[in-house]
Amino acid sequence: ELLQPIQSTKTTCPYCGVGCGVVVRTQGKKIIDVKGDETHPANWGKLCSKGSKLAETATENVYGQVRASQPLLRIQRDQAVAPTDWNTALDFTAKEFARLIATYGPDSVGFYISGQLLTEDYYVFNKLAKGLIGTNNIDTNSRLCMSSAVSGYKRTLGADAPPCNYDDLALADCVFIAGSNMAYAHPVAYRRLEAARAAMPGHKLIVVDPRVTDTAAMADLHLKIQPGTDVMLFNAMLHVMMQNGWLDMATINKHTEGFEAMVKGLADYTPRLAASVCGVPEADIVTAATWFAQSSRTLSLYCQGLNQATTGTDKNTALIALHLATGHIGREGAGPFSMTGQPNAMGGREVGGLATLLPAHRELNNPAHVAEVAAFWGVKQISSTPGASAVEMFDQLEQGKIKAVWVACTNPAHSLPNSQKVARALQNAELVVVQDAYLTPATVHYADVLLPATTWGEKEGTVTNSERRISRVRAAMPAYGESKNDWQIVVDFAQRLEQELLKLGVESSRLDGSHRDSQPTALAGNAFLHYSSVEDIFNEHRETTRGRDLDITGLSYAVLETKGPQQWPMPEGEPQGKARLYEDGVYPTATGRAKFVFAPYEPVAEEADARFPWRLNTGRLRDQWHGGSRTGTLAEFFSHEAEPVISLHPADFKRLSLTPNSWVSVKSRRATITLRAKADESVARNQAVLPMHWGPEFFGGKAGVAGVNALTTEAFDPYSKQPELKHAAVNIQRV
Ligand code: SF4
Repeated sequence: ELLQPIQSTKTTCPYCGVGCGVVVRTQGKKIIDVKGDETHPANWGKLCSKGSKLAETATENVYGQVRASQPLLRIQRDQAVAPTDWNTALDFTAKEFARLIATYGPDSVGFYISGQLLTEDYYVFNKLAKGLIGTNNIDTNSRLCMSSAVSGYKRTLGADAPPCNYDDLALADCVFIAGSNMAYAHPVAYRRLEAARAAMPGHKLIVVDPRVTDTAAMADLHLKIQPGTDVMLFNAMLHVMMQNGWLDMATINKHTEGFEAMVKGLADYTPRLAASVCGVPEADIVTAATWFAQSSRTLSLYCQGLNQATTGTDKNTALIALHLATGHIGREGAGPFSMTGQPNAMGGREVGGLATLLPAHRELNNPAHVAEVAAFWGVKQISSTPGASAVEMFDQLEQGKIKAVWVACTNPAHSLPNSQKVARALQNAELVVVQDAYLTPATVHYADVLLPATTWGEKEGTVTNSERRISRVRAAMPAYGESKNDWQIVVDFAQRLEQELLKLGVESSRLDGSHRDSQPTALAGNAFLHYSSVEDIFNEHRETTRGRDLDITGLSYAVLETKGPQQWPMPEGEPQGKARLYEDGVYPTATGRAKFVFAPYEPVAEEADARFPWRLNTGRLRDQWHGGSRTGTLAEFFSHEAEPVISLHPADFKRLSLTPNSWVSVKSRRATITLRAKADESVARNQAVLPMHWGPEFFGGKAGVAGVNALTTEAFDPYSKQPELKHAAVNIQRV
């Protein structure tokens, strides 16, 4: 290998929604190093601890221990999986899916995919489920991540479209961060904010968080609210602004609707009431309202603290109302900017890869949209019945309504709430297909069929980051072992499934052959899902966006090559993508006006009570990513926290007679886990914080029955269907 030339490949970091560009230097099959891409607008060369160690997580030595290298299969549930070849694995899977669809109908199968797949992967999965099989049972771990931000944007601004960009971090003179520890979750964007603060005298930073996170520690004003009381706080801030005449009435009158109902709804939301509910001083609420309204450019940044809640949509709606009322939107340095958790949660929404969506932001409940997609795909009809969302899918699997589930690039046995129920669902399923690059996720243990997929550094496609910027993902080294690209696995399966369904004579509007003459693009071959390259898929996806709010008909792989990453929309003829939305004050609603929607305060799903008196919050550590398939392979990523430890306020730690390294049992209404506790000044009294990165694979081996999410509740927001992973009532006892 040393004789081979050194090659540089530009791609993106696979971790968070900042979407940093990286340059990978390789020699032969070996990565020499990974550096920040100095030309990428998301990071201008900077990387955080996770991105800068990508090379160390992709060595032959590491991969030899954790990667899936060949298909595995078991025909009987009581057998162990055994190595097989691709044809056998896919033939078996196609036959089983066809049998279940023929016997029980298309909704007897489901796909649970991932915000870490590339847009092209997402597109073909969605087309397979909705276009070929005829089920909307396709959802994604983005449901756990951004769906409340989506429903908040759609409810108020008319489209799932963050209006801001990363340059706004440096242009705002007031930044309002709610429910986000950016310092850990979006480190490179956070550094940009730090630099902006240093350069701008008088800059104001307000942070809303129950904890004194590293982000909150930097704030000029930290509103240390009780968990789940954000709507009360935001409503009270708007109440204060109204009382003091700090509203931008010209913008309200010209560009919004629903303001009168908002005024009525907010009448009772005094700062005094909010102070008592939120547990923060009344004066601080007034100060926050003053700074927010009276700064010249206010930018909000928010993430899972708002989204992962049964009131997630309301929290987003109430925060966006602050921007609409003060005119802090559609301008440089101003606007409601939801930070995407995963690297491509937004790309998945663009292609409609969720149980409630269709491609290019089309809606299942809009007959015209359903007809457009059916025509585009050349199928007679698309089901307009919403499919099972993430939590619902595993409920239906447990109940036997869904018989087979296909999990790709995610780990529901670890990351879904009430994970023991998820484990039962996977055990009950007739067939579990897992498509993953790694053997280590807890979900792999339930697989009847394991399909090894390529991962970062090996695959091609595109992703979209938090600021709507589409970047190319490029392969720098060959596929590991026999693994295949995710899109290719789907296509290979789809062609077999189509044949099996035809053999079984499944009565299907999708399979009458009409699609063969009506492929929307000049694709090779004549099967429903047939692409000769990943670029073919991008081009087909691009056509679905024509005339839509996210129109990217001006984009191509060639344009991304020559002009670099671009923000959508970028319609045909535009020289570049759109940096900021709504600068003209026109919104993609029926009237062209943004909407005020009054959201009354509702408490969390599980209030603390005498039996479960502690409020449990779950979250991210600085150096780990999700279930740790990749970050868990590197010892230095454990220097911050070596194992899961529950953090309690020092006074509570003492009250429980705990000493350093004491063990505690943490019991919720669903499960009990046992782990070490530590005293931590950053945690509020009667609250507890637990990192999300350790799942059943850790606890099963060492300390008990299940992972962190055995404790959390599957109660979810009625609009976004996002579960309340940020709050569960628990009891904590010394053991
Ligand atoms: Fe990767 Fe996010 Fe870190 Fe950038 S900030 S290097 S995208 S993990």
